[in-house]
Amino acid sequence: MKDIAIIGAGPAGIAASIYLKRAGFEPLVFEKGDIGGLLLNANLVENYPGFPEGITGKELVKLFKNQLLRLDIYVENKEVKEVNIDGDGFKLITSNEILNPRALIITSGTIPKDIELKGQSSVLGRKLFYEIKDIPPPKREDTFVVIGAGDAAFDYALNLSKDVSKVDIIFRSGKAKCLTLLEDRARKSKNIYVHPKTAPLHVKEEQGKIKIECISDGKETIFTPKYGLIACGRSPNLNVISKELQKSLRIKKDGTTNIPGLYFAGDVRRGNFRQTGIAVGDGISTAMMAAEFLLGGYEK
Ligand SMILES: Cc1cc2nc3c(=O)[nH]c(=O)nc-3n(C[C@H](O)[C@H](O)[C@H](O)COP(=O)(O)OP(=O)(O)OC[C@H]3O[C@@H](n4cnc5c(N)ncnc54)[C@H](O)[C@@H]3O)c2cc1C
Repeated sequence: MKDIAIIGAGPAGIAASIYLKRAGFEPLVFEKGDIGGLLLNANLVENYPGFPEGITGKELVKLFKNQLLRLDIYVENKEVKEVNIDGDGFKLITSNEILNPRALIITSGTIPKDIELKGQSSVLGRKLFYEIKDIPPPKREDTFVVIGAGDAAFDYALNLSKDVSKVDIIFRSGKAKCLTLLEDRARKSKNIYVHPKTAPLHVKEEQGKIKIECISDGKETIFTPKYGLIACGRSPNLNVISKELQKSLRIKKDGTTNIPGLYFAGDVRRGNFRQTGIAVGDGISTAMMAAEFLLGGYEK
């Protein structure tokens, strides 16, 4: 039986794996997408200590990856399809194997909230995206609409404004809900336009662009950018947990659960407090608790 598995290699999973490796364990780390998770989308991380000038999400992930490499931590590029309890441990199902770790840290992050924009399924993944890392390489003549009022929406707009000709940020509320410094930067930018009280209703593809029909202050308004990005909040990603386990699962404030050996770390359990530093701290603290559990639970 393998000691411990980690689901997700974003900042929380990476930090947990680094702690465990140095504590003498061989964590099984699974990542279904790219190592780094949501952090790969960040334009400029200015609140993670150690980088006085700030650092892009991609650069920070590169440093995290170097650390994994130096410590010989292998991340398996595989989705865990389902997690359940199995005897004294857990049952993890992937596309081609079943594993039974004794302890498990779930760092599966978040999924985007559905804004119920009519017509979106016809353009999602081609013209309309949820993450900036998924857009095609931008060209100077491209135009974008970013939907959302929070930090991520403004971060995306600032990021895009460096490479494309125009970015419109639209959101339903009367005011932006992001850090003031991000809003100030966007308002100072020459090619970012902020449109409060603008609710997108319908989207469709038209002549290589997308047509986004909105209601703006009671009037119909149409945007026709090349691409759109949606950043309207995120929900915990608990999809990997079996329906049966979800019914009885209780996640506590410190990341432990009502099931011995099962922990949650990072954005998946942090509500609105979704930050890299918090995810890293969570990863480390759950790894420490898991190590204690394993060492106390049976002879290694
Ligand atoms: C635009 C933007 C800007 C940001 N800027 C900042 C900033 O300036 N400062 C800051 O501190 N934070 C910032 N953040 C937030 C930061 O990126 C997140 O808080 C952080 O990435 C959370 O880490 P995590 O490991 O908890 O989750 P995530 O980074 O979401 O990682 C979860 C990982 O789990 C994987 N996964 C999920 N399910 C499975 C499965 N079943 N099997 C295998 N793998 C799975 C996912 O593919 C993903 O890689 C920003 C976020 C965005 C979107």
